Amino acid sequence: MRSILHRVARALGSDARITVMTGAGVSAASGVPTFRGADGLWKDFRVDDLATPQAFTRNPRAVWEWYDWRRQAIAGCQPNAAHHVLASWSLRFPRFTLITQNVDGLHERAGASDVLRLHGSIWDVGCWNQCAGSPHRWRDDSVPFPVLPPSCPHCGGPLRPGVVWFGELLDSEVVDRSLDATRCDVFFTVGTSAIVYPAAGFLDHARSHGAMTVEINPEATPASSTVDVVVPERAELALPELDATLGAHPLALTTERLRLEPLLPRHVEAAHQLWTHPEVRRYLWDDRIIPRETAEEVARASAADFARHRFGLWLVYGHEESGMPVGFCGLRTDGVGPGPELLFGLYPTYWGRGFAQEASRAVLAHAFTTLRLPRVTAATDAPNERSARTLSAIGMRFDRRAEHNGLDTLFYSIDLRR
Ligand SMILES: [Zn+2]
Repeated sequence: MRSILHRVARALGSDARITVMTGAGVSAASGVPTFRGADGLWKDFRVDDLATPQAFTRNPRAVWEWYDWRRQAIAGCQPNAAHHVLASWSLRFPRFTLITQNVDGLHERAGASDVLRLHGSIWDVGCWNQCAGSPHRWRDDSVPFPVLPPSCPHCGGPLRPGVVWFGELLDSEVVDRSLDATRCDVFFTVGTSAIVYPAAGFLDHARSHGAMTVEINPEATPASSTVDVVVPERAELALPELDATLGAHPLALTTERLRLEPLLPRHVEAAHQLWTHPEVRRYLWDDRIIPRETAEEVARASAADFARHRFGLWLVYGHEESGMPVGFCGLRTDGVGPGPELLFGLYPTYWGRGFAQEASRAVLAHAFTTLRLPRVTAATDAPNERSARTLSAIGMRFDRRAEHNGLDTLFYSIDLRR
């Protein structure tokens, strides 16, 4: 098994074009039901008969009861390790495309952006009448809908689920972009039998373009005999193992004593632990408890910043400390000035050991050397001698003192051009 994964990992260079196509097997470990009992029935309906335009015409309420129930079930599910690895690959590899047959939105909740959803999204809705005032599809997270079927805010007619039903055409733009992504170096099919059109075709296309083809699926499928590499393992086990063989995340930073991991949605647990620690709360957050949802929001925002700017928040780990981060450091975009703002905070146990300077220097080096940013600012509430000392120690100069968000604030900056 290990040697198989090493073979795949060797093909995953930083400039490789990588395309991953996922199916239901990726979401199974999240507890997303297949919505199809052994008998293929839901209540008294055949499932295949609910997912058609004809069924909706006949009985929109029954169809919506099924989708509303599925939305409620999915809302209670969390992305698993497979979703998290794929989301971090979308940051790791500049030429990465994720195609999914799933409609559950778990790839997006793990932080993946620009997912090609072949079958639409169960979180999207559209106007059944396709009225002129409404967009083709839009997102509506209501769970459950108070009235079924929910009505179009533009014309009052019924809304339909934003999924592709049997007998409907796939979105041609999504198919075209997926086809384009089959011109790649490595093509993965994960948790899907890939026998349904157009998924099966994508695999053939990738092969004909010379891609290494990899199947990750615990069960043999018709594709197994045609791909270059078969990983007969569940996605939530195989992908983290493969990810581990790739080594450090390219946006990770290391110093003599510290390791800085980009804060991605997979690290929400660590971030939440850090931010709810009583000592940290006392010094950094005015004794407010940062709820889990906020930690998730911060991680999503940080992941989006990494995807867009190659900077965000890093969790800081000591090489010699165990599991829990000792603090955070980062560059944020919504800061005090027109450019990025340096941000840092440390668990008080580690104050006085120079960790804040070490972490901040690593982030500034990334900002100036890799990203070639001209200038970084910082702000601290006044008086906060500890922060002011850290900022001076890393070469930042005092700019001005002014009120900011109702607080007396000291502004610092560092300019590469100086
Ligand atoms: Zn409408």
